[in-house]
Amino acid sequence: MDFLKTRYTPMNRRRRIYEGKAKVLYEGPEPGTLIQHFKDDATAFNAKKHEVIDGKGVLNNRISEYIFQNLNDIGVPTHFIRRLNMREQLIREVEIIPLEVVVRNVAAGSLAKRLGLEEGTQLPRSIIEFYYKNDALDDPMVSEEHITAFGWANPQEIDDIMALAIRVNDFLSGLFLGAGIRLVDFKMETGRIWEGDMMRIVVADEISPDSCRLWDVKSADKLDKDRFRRDMGGLVEAYQEVARRLGILGEAENVTAGGPRLVQP
Ligand code: UDP
Repeated sequence: MDFLKTRYTPMNRRRRIYEGKAKVLYEGPEPGTLIQHFKDDATAFNAKKHEVIDGKGVLNNRISEYIFQNLNDIGVPTHFIRRLNMREQLIREVEIIPLEVVVRNVAAGSLAKRLGLEEGTQLPRSIIEFYYKNDALDDPMVSEEHITAFGWANPQEIDDIMALAIRVNDFLSGLFLGAGIRLVDFKMETGRIWEGDMMRIVVADEISPDSCRLWDVKSADKLDKDRFRRDMGGLVEAYQEVARRLGILGEAENVTAGGPRLVQP
């Protein structure tokens, strides 16, 4: 009987489409959908540094869900459909554009180094940069000339991507500021979706403390993956703090995989 046929396929029987450093993509329940699974793995410096951090995947799933759902709600198109469970979300299958789009509001990381700026310097205006997604080449920075010459995106698509990046930056800056957090910079990815003859570019992948620089407004404490890159410790606690301030996690929610814990009276 039809109603006995469950749509849910256990994880170990689903077809794995792609495995990245922090996520796995499985085939979805309907054509044109995928399941995005968040792992606990943390990597930096093009995977030369690697660690498993208990609870990170659960937090990134929740934080990214919250951001993408809000983007959908304000009319910024994304690949996100809905969260399925602690580590997985249902997404639309897109053709990933092989660019990392970085938006910066404050000098930090590679920009501070490259231009000799002091970390924390407010930039004269938000700056958008493109990096070619290629692990073997260490994701080199590229210009619009490279992008169009090599056919990664055409000029109209670059305009669309930049317009999306600015909207996402404005939304995220306000969202985080309301939580006492300064959005220093972030990375986003985009993909193409076809609806009949129409093609749209949507925000894809994830937006989480793994892909943003987030500083506490008052103390300038780092609440992002720089804690891992710079061996500062306290990564899960920092991500948990971001989630808590955004009102995502209840105080009592436990994101690490351990068994029941003693609740303090
Ligand atoms: N970023 C990312 N993935 C990358 C490279 C950078 O998510 O492969 C993010 C990073 O977390 C930061 C922003 O993009 O929020 C700018 O990173 P930057 O170019 O300063 O490089 P990094 O210092 O991280 O090497």
